Amino acid sequence: MNNALTIALSKGRIFEETLPLLAAADVVPVDDPDTSRKLILDTNQADVKLVIIRAADVPTYVGYGAADLGVAGKDVLLEHGGEGLYEPLDLKIARCRLMVAGPEGRHNGAGRLRIATKYVKSTRRFYADRQEQVEIIKLYGSMELAPLVGLADRIVDVVDTGNTLKANGLQPLEHIADISSRLVVNKASMKMKHARIAAFIARLKAAVAAG
Ligand code: AMP
Repeated sequence: MNNALTIALSKGRIFEETLPLLAAADVVPVDDPDTSRKLILDTNQADVKLVIIRAADVPTYVGYGAADLGVAGKDVLLEHGGEGLYEPLDLKIARCRLMVAGPEGRHNGAGRLRIATKYVKSTRRFYADRQEQVEIIKLYGSMELAPLVGLADRIVDVVDTGNTLKANGLQPLEHIADISSRLVVNKASMKMKHARIAAFIARLKAAVAAG
């Protein structure tokens, strides 16, 4: 049986913060994604590869089994829905909060609030739970701009230090969810490569617990 493992990761914060956890599980990439243009990185283990993809694509690759495992933010998983995936471990990295934010000192106008976000599902669920009717405007980035140019009254975005909001005259208004990165596993891989994946998860879990 093919017992090789493919692990999907995104560049940047998730990659940097996952590296020490992978090292604890004896997986060390040979190439550096910042200097290499390769999308498949070799590791110290001949049968373990890392695929470097967009954060929002990680659940798709793992869900279809194109990668056995992946690391994805809970914000991304909430939007994706998690079909075909197990989510066995909170890696407690890349922590932030999903929040509603809006201009400082501005009160609600008349009519429905317009909310700009790339987190359409989470936003819809949040306001539906409160039985509040809002208009959601889907954006792909730079949500902070939307209230400044009159596109929306509020935004829903992930917030870490809050510096980006502040620099744009916005303030956090409501907390939707605490976010951190999760290990996700393809359901078929978990069955077919159970011993190997279970051992890998156990080592990651110990590394997370060791903090
Ligand atoms: P902040 O520290 O709040 O100014 O966040 C800086 C930018 O990074 C903001 O645009 C956030 O949307 C984004 N951000 C912060 N934390 C995360 C995270 N854990 N995952 C993805 N994006 C983040």
